[in-house]
This record gives sequence, C-alpha cells and structure tokens, in this order.
Amino acid sequence: MSEKVKVRFAPSPTGPLHIGGARSALFNWLLARKMGGTMLVRVEDTDLERSSRESEKMILDDLRWLGLDWDEGIEVGGENGPYRQSERLSAYRPYIERLLASGQAYYCYCSEEDLEKERESCKQRGEMPRYSGRCRHLPVAKSEFARKPVLRFKVPTGQQVVINDLVRGKIVFDTDGIGDFVIVKSEGLPTYNFAVVVDDIEMKISHIIRGDEHLSNTPRQVLLYQALEVKPPAFAHISLILGEDRSKMSKRHGATAIRQYRAKGYLPEALLNYLAFLGWSPAGEEEIFSLEELVQAFSLERVAKSPAVFSLEKLDWLNGHYLRKASAERLRDMALPYWQQAGFIGEKLTTAEKEWLSEVTASVQEKLVYVSQIADLTALYFGETKEPVNQEARDILNDSEQVLQEFLARIDDFFAWDEKEIKQGIKKLGRDLQVKGKKLFMPIRVAASGQTWGPELPTMLRLLGRERVKQRVAYMLMRLKV
Ligand code: GLU
Ligand code: ZN
Repeated sequence: MSEKVKVRFAPSPTGPLHIGGARSALFNWLLARKMGGTMLVRVEDTDLERSSRESEKMILDDLRWLGLDWDEGIEVGGENGPYRQSERLSAYRPYIERLLASGQAYYCYCSEEDLEKERESCKQRGEMPRYSGRCRHLPVAKSEFARKPVLRFKVPTGQQVVINDLVRGKIVFDTDGIGDFVIVKSEGLPTYNFAVVVDDIEMKISHIIRGDEHLSNTPRQVLLYQALEVKPPAFAHISLILGEDRSKMSKRHGATAIRQYRAKGYLPEALLNYLAFLGWSPAGEEEIFSLEELVQAFSLERVAKSPAVFSLEKLDWLNGHYLRKASAERLRDMALPYWQQAGFIGEKLTTAEKEWLSEVTASVQEKLVYVSQIADLTALYFGETKEPVNQEARDILNDSEQVLQEFLARIDDFFAWDEKEIKQGIKKLGRDLQVKGKKLFMPIRVAASGQTWGPELPTMLRLLGRERVKQRVAYMLMRLKV
C-alpha cells in the first residue's frame, strides 16, 4: 500500500458511547494497528443544541476504558488541531470560498415555511422530499432580504456517483435523487456533511469505517470531494446491529451504552472480543480473541454485509470466560464499590481485609457472569448472624438439632482451621452420629450462612472464620429452641 493508513473515530457528543459507536471505533483502531497506520479522534459537535462536553467526556472515557487509544486528536493533540469541529470554523472558510468562487455553492434565503411547502408538494407528487433549487439563480447579493441565508451545495444534475465500498462493493447513486443540501447553516456553522469532508481532507484520512446509517450521506460527501477536486478516501460501511428480534438495536433490547455494561461489571476485553464479532468473523472457529490477536486476524475483507445480531447470551458467555481467567485481586478491586454500596465494607481496608476479600472473590469466581453480582453472591460472608433465607432452609434446620449441637461442641477441636481439617472433622462427626451426605452438610451450611447454596462448604467455613461460624451456629440453635 502506497499511502499511509490513517483512520478516524468521529463521534458526535450527543450521548454516551453506544455499542455501534464502540464497534466503529474498534474496527478503525484494528485497521490502523494492523496496517501500521494511525488513528485520530475528532469530536463532531456542530449540532450545538444536541452536543455537550459531558457527552464528549463520557465517550473519551469509555474509549480509554476499552483500551482503544489514539495517536492524534482530542486531548492528545497533533498538527491538525483543534479537534472539535465547533472550534475549527476558520478551517472551513477557504473551502467555502472555493465552492462559492467555482459556482458550486449558493446562498438560499428560503424560510422554514417555504421549505415546508416544498416538502408538502413533493409528498403530494409522491416524491422523496428534496429542495427544489429555487435559490440557485438568485443574484449573489441579496441584501434586501433581512433573513440570514444558508449556503447550499449545487448538486450536479443527471450524474451518477459510484462508491466502491470495501465492505458492500459497488454502490451507485443518482444525483437527481439528491437535492441541493445545506453546507453552512444560517448561524455560520458547517453541517455534518461539509465539515466531515473538509476535516477528512485536512487530516489526510485514508479510510472511513463507519456504520451503515451513514450510507445515504456518502454520495453527498463524494460530490463534495469531486467539487473540491480531491480524491475521496476509501469507504467501508459496516452493517447495522439488530436486536435478537431482528429489529434495529435500541434501548428496548437492553443496555446499548458501553457505560451500562461497565457499571454492571463487564470486562473491557470481553466487550472488545464481543464487539469484534458484530460484523466481522475470523477464518477459523476460534471465538476467544485478545486485542492483540484481533489485530493479527482482522481484515475488512472478512467484514460481513449482512446485519449483525446482538446476543446478550453470547456476551455473557464471553464475559464469564474472561472473569474466570482474571486474577482474584483484579476482580476484588472491581468489586469494592459493589460491596461498599451494599454496606458490607467501609472505605478503608487493611491488607489482611483485602487479602480476605480476594479469597472471598475467588470462592465465587466460577459463578460470576458480571462483577456486580458479587454483592449477592458473597452476602453470606458479611454480618454477624444470619436468618434462614427460605422455607427450605428452615426445614433443614428444624430437622438437624443434633448435628448442629455436636458440630458446635466440637468446633474448637478442629484444631487448625483449614479446609482439610474442616472436611475431616465434619466427616468424623458424620461417622460418629451415623449421618452422611446432605443430612450432614446441609444443616452446617444453612446454620453458618442462612442459605442452602454457596461456595464449597470447607472453603466457606474457613473464610467465615471459626468465631463467626460458632456465633452463627449458636444463634441458629437458639432460634430453633424458641
Ligand atoms: N459524527 C458521526 C456520528 O457520530 C460520524 C461521522 C462519520 O464517521 O463520518 O455518527
Ligand atoms: Zn432557497
């Protein structure tokens, strides 16, 4: 490849980073890393009403959390800044001048009502609403109009725009279906279609990878490139993401924002692995890919034309996989806010407490689908005494006074409080009382934790500590008697 690969992620800061945006960012990032190119991040905030700094911050923060870094652009800097379109107005000026000078742009003084009337009459004729071009032939100076004009691009008539999309192949658009579109709004801000072209030219972007929803913008952008006599970059439009019912993915299908997954305790590597598969697939059967492996395997040729279907089940499966591989210390650190929220732990922890929390985490690690479940799964470890959680637990207790009495009587004799000794001690207790299996283990489990399920019994008892187990079992016995 002769030209250097340079891609961009160009979010509009009108909300948090969504699944679709994150996937676009990932595919751009993968192409840049694969080809030894660079990626920049540019904030497209010319829609002042819908844009906010808060959204911008959230998006950048989520990108960083995912581990998708960038070489140039917002907050990183580089030769083409500023990287907020609202701050680049002087960059657009010369391009506006060029289009005006070559007669490829003109001022339009139509009012909103005029345009509404035009849209209506298009509809009545059964046509797609588009601007008629009525201001094309107005004399340039129109000072008698008090209204501030917009600037429109003069779309050539009777031509075809051909796009050789790297994913979708050849796509042909008729220019007659495209009305003269606005490139500068009346308040002087460029529109998306214009700003994106100028910026992609100025920033020497080689490939544009973005969602299918932009496909209808692409012929407009290509016409602008032609008018400016610049070769357009390569385009790759990636398919829509659908919900499991095959309608366009939306809030109704569950969480669509990356931060919602983050808040629930999904791991970035699981999300990235999952996002990669939304539209791309590798040559083999393998489904687990680290970011490094994705860089190796990724290619635009293997991006599908057909829509991707979002499956939470698949994401959960992947997340579970990465959670089981993660270190207990990492998961413990992720779990701290959930335990704090549940009131299980305070802000300050000693080293010993931290170590204990790691072991508590490890004891339920197998069961985790996402980290926020940890508060529920480990609730049994916190609190002085426990109540039986349900009828089943109560029935088990009612039936087991003898086992519990004897267990309590012997508890100090398990001399070392480790898993092996605890196991042997309980076995011996069973032999002596002639009880075994569930009849032996369940009462001890319920008396110590209040519940009929949980981590391995010896592990759970060890982590609870001898004193707490004594206290809880004694409490349950007392409860049995009243
Ligand atoms: N700012 C556009 C968006 O957030 C992206 C434009 C593009 O990638 O060309 O949808
Ligand atoms: Zn007009």
